[in-house]
Amino acid sequence: MTQPLARRLPEPQRSELADGREILFFSNSATPPAPLADHRDLPSRPTSTPTELRRDPRTGDWVIIAPARQERTYKPPRQMCPLCPDPSGQSSEVPAEDYDVVVFENRFPSLSTAHAGSSFALPEASTELEVVAPGYGRCEVVCFTSEHDGSFAQLSPAQARLVIDTWAHRAADLLARDGVEEVFCFENRGEEIGVTLAHPHGQIYAYPFRTDRTSALLAEAGRYRAEAGADLFEAILAAEVSDGRRILVRTEHTTAFVPFAARWPAEVHIYPNRHV
Ligand SMILES: [Zn+2]
Repeated sequence: MTQPLARRLPEPQRSELADGREILFFSNSATPPAPLADHRDLPSRPTSTPTELRRDPRTGDWVIIAPARQERTYKPPRQMCPLCPDPSGQSSEVPAEDYDVVVFENRFPSLSTAHAGSSFALPEASTELEVVAPGYGRCEVVCFTSEHDGSFAQLSPAQARLVIDTWAHRAADLLARDGVEEVFCFENRGEEIGVTLAHPHGQIYAYPFRTDRTSALLAEAGRYRAEAGADLFEAILAAEVSDGRRILVRTEHTTAFVPFAARWPAEVHIYPNRHV
């Protein structure tokens, strides 16, 4: 069902931060500047996974328990922004003169690969009520631009495309790793939902399990194909276009609409018009 990506993904320049975390620079330029050294005196990373997964015995869902996240950087003043480029390598997460798009491992991750070695598997389902597993996986931060003020919506088309290609690169790279079952690229935007840094950025989570919502979507898409012999998402798009009442924007390439069974007071889905 999934078609290979027709476009060649950008290859990032890879470097390392002072505590050994990986940082990747993606660029639109054929000759991007080389990453600089991180001179900060950072505490070394924990040698075991600092978080844990707990299985909810009622639903079978895995829940991430991450107490260390309470200590993350909280609304720093603008001149202390950890996502702005810093050529001195002293005060930010991004030691560079400038950058287009940058991705690095989260310093306060909910999921990490520490100590799990080369293979990881979740415990089998059992009648045990309290099942715990290490918080294996990976959490990355992706900065959409080196400009501190702004938003994804204000990016140029070329810059937005680079962010999307970066998401595609990270999804393919992380899914290829042992024990990773799902990669989720997302942006929580606004203080109301708990964002603590103003700089335009998003998150990438590589989970060691398939989330319940994704499992449900895949099951429904499979059932629809088996019973109707067609693609569920193409059918939804065709039905929305034919109905027309919930369409907000329709262009040559995409359609934005309020879904039939919206779960939020303001909810919009954006579909490509072609099968992807
Ligand atoms: Zn900034």
